[in-house]
Amino acid sequence: MGYIGYRPTWAEIDLKALEYNFNQVKAHLSSHTKILVCVKSDAYGHGIVPVSKKLVSLGVDYLGVASIDEGIVLRKVGIDIPILILGMVLPSDTKPILRFNLTQTVCSEKLAKVLNKTAKKYKKIADIHIKVDTGMGRLGVLYNDAFNFIEKIHRLKFLNIEGVFTHFPCADISPSFTYYQIDIFNKLIDRLRKNNIHIPLCHAANSMGVIGYREAHFNLVRPGLIIYGLYPKKNIKIGLKPVMSLKTKIIYVKRMRKGEGLSYGHIYRTKKNTTVVTLPIGYGDGYSRDLSGKADVLIGKARFRISGRICMDQTLVDVGDTKVRIGDEVVLIGSDGKQRITAEELAYRAGTIPYEIVCGIGNRVPRIYK
Ligand SMILES: *Cc1c(COP(=O)(O)O)cnc(C)c1O
Repeated sequence: MGYIGYRPTWAEIDLKALEYNFNQVKAHLSSHTKILVCVKSDAYGHGIVPVSKKLVSLGVDYLGVASIDEGIVLRKVGIDIPILILGMVLPSDTKPILRFNLTQTVCSEKLAKVLNKTAKKYKKIADIHIKVDTGMGRLGVLYNDAFNFIEKIHRLKFLNIEGVFTHFPCADISPSFTYYQIDIFNKLIDRLRKNNIHIPLCHAANSMGVIGYREAHFNLVRPGLIIYGLYPKKNIKIGLKPVMSLKTKIIYVKRMRKGEGLSYGHIYRTKKNTTVVTLPIGYGDGYSRDLSGKADVLIGKARFRISGRICMDQTLVDVGDTKVRIGDEVVLIGSDGKQRITAEELAYRAGTIPYEIVCGIGNRVPRIYK
């Protein structure tokens, strides 16, 4: 195993599972559909550099990041495939976009003009993707204004509109709204084509779009979550393998008497004489305090419930009369024997989504790549 320092808490990143998921997604697509994998937010907590390098070796077409800084990280380690910045940037920050050959999302005239000027200065043509808002209400030029907007941007000589895209807010809960979005997005693409504006890449599908809406594939898809082996909702028919496991080791063991309060606020009390273990992980590592008293961990292939409040650096588990020892491995996400705890399960128990569980695992937790 790689070096984890002197605090035995780590996340294992299974790059073979990443490969498996990537191929599963690919098998879902027609042969002309390209794949952009979202590696923003440190590749959903899995580590942007090792994950991106692996994806490049697997033949990914495009990488998606949230910011210029994330794009620069990838360029600095020698990744030279196209990188789309999905987020917005300030007009005053366009230089590094040109310098590092990043593709910027554009949905304002102001940014387009400044980028055009910067590209001219660099004697380059800047590839851009235009984002159209068909119902997310976030970034994107409003659908009704999109055609005129694109026509205008099309005239800027130092910009190349390589892509046009939109995003689904309700693909998991509302097929009717999603099909409506697909429909109007198609109408826009048709209208552009009829007016001799040919944009090579059209895309809309996040993970849910990839799995649930073949009509949303166009010629590029933008999955994130499913590549990391996580499901955007239940009962989805695609086999995936979770990429991240989260583990720690028992760092302290003691016998305690019946009726003792454990951890801050004493929300848990021992029900009999029992063994209480301390784990060196807490909300400072992104193991959410919302999981206090709700999440399970695996010790010796068996499930135990977290006891009392999760602290910043430590978490307690009442293991009853189970024989445990300092140094025993504990699984917080992952499997041990037949038992498995998924990020989806933790998300459900914490009242959030699996995205937040994996993105939240902090910098203090070393990632070990397998
Ligand atoms: C993050 C992101 C995605 C990927 O979403 P998943 O649900 O993780 O597949 C797709 N498109 C955009 C614009 C995004 O920001």
